[in-house]
Amino acid sequence: MKDNIALNDIVDKTFKILKEVPLCDRCLGRIYSTYGAGLSNKLRGISIKVLLTMLIPYMINKLSSEEIKRIAANIKFQPFYVTLQKLNIQLDIVEKPCYICGDILDSIIEEYTRIILKECLNYEFNNFLVGVHIPSEIATKEEELMRIFKIESYESIKNEIKREIGKKIKERLKLQPEFQEPDIVFLVNLVENRLDIIVKPLFISGRYIKLGRKISQVEWLILEKEGYRLKYDLSVEKSLQPIAEIFNAQNVVLHAAGREDVDARMLGYGRPMIIELKNPKFRKLLKQRLLEAEKKVARESNGYVHVFLYGKASRNKVREVKEQAKYHAKTYKVLAISDVKVSEEELKRIENVFSNKVVSQRTPTRVLHRRPDILREKKVYKVVAKRICENLFELLVKCEGGLYVKELVDGDFGRTHPSFSSTINKNLKCIELDVLNVSM
Ligand SMILES: [Zn+2]
Repeated sequence: MKDNIALNDIVDKTFKILKEVPLCDRCLGRIYSTYGAGLSNKLRGISIKVLLTMLIPYMINKLSSEEIKRIAANIKFQPFYVTLQKLNIQLDIVEKPCYICGDILDSIIEEYTRIILKECLNYEFNNFLVGVHIPSEIATKEEELMRIFKIESYESIKNEIKREIGKKIKERLKLQPEFQEPDIVFLVNLVENRLDIIVKPLFISGRYIKLGRKISQVEWLILEKEGYRLKYDLSVEKSLQPIAEIFNAQNVVLHAAGREDVDARMLGYGRPMIIELKNPKFRKLLKQRLLEAEKKVARESNGYVHVFLYGKASRNKVREVKEQAKYHAKTYKVLAISDVKVSEEELKRIENVFSNKVVSQRTPTRVLHRRPDILREKKVYKVVAKRICENLFELLVKCEGGLYVKELVDGDFGRTHPSFSSTINKNLKCIELDVLNVSM
């Protein structure tokens, strides 16, 4: 009987470890985390200490007095001392703090659970994740101990803190932890002794309409002697910022399906977009919030920018929307002027030539300074022209996404071919451009 017990791996190994280092209940329990299910490490640790206490009378003869003294100082368990006293072993025991955690594990779990539950009141989320940053000296101590005693059944201290706090949060809030894409991460930062909160951005799909000209899509900064200055006072992205207040977010980033020129209006049903709210404390897409956001954008941009917000989108949708923009058919309204009179027949010729016509286009001269010079082939599906007066006319142009329409009109010194100018051999110029439709 005695021999069998002495051979028991757990007992043997624990005595060996406790001869060397003091361990609290949790840190001892973690060493045997794979033994038994439905147990906390604390209960495991206490159970092993109970077992050792029960067995010590039968093992006392196999241990030297020096070994007993060391084990007693390291086991941190009152009944063990009482049992030794009963065996007439009088020891002057000075309990030492746990070698791995320094006896702070219980208070860390309690304290951070309390802080997290308090912080939760400020955020809306459907799932969460608890993360832990532990000081490297703790991790190193733990790993070394496990390596020296060849222990493979252990759970890391980091994991235990995560799991224990996560379990308490889950019970209190009746919410599930989410490991892939949590709405919120509570990062217990034990290196800096603080709680960091990381909130997943909120993506909302929608469209925007731009009713004015000289409005850039995002802020356009130009460098001057005094520093940077905005080239245009208003941008679509800037006019979206009031949405941040509604969701108590840090700011709003616009991800649009392509972009129109600064001086072109974006009309019709608008341009598809995904807006990204950074660090939103509120993330429920209540109808009332979306309506308020739409109103706010219109009001604060003085009616120049309008948005339609549809609902929640995923992060992947951002790339999809941007990618699709290259293939969307677009319809434009062009107001063009000629330096000489243009006849009805000439306009008919433009309509006929540009019916399902592939146009080859080198990067326009006006954007060459910021885009690589490449040759692209884009299709013009249909053109409808209407004369306003002798040298002024309007053209509705339906074409493939990515075609530069201003250059389709003037030819850009032959870099776009054929062009409306080259077709009738006259100098035409686009003086106003509107995007009427972006198909999805
Ligand atoms: Zn400990």
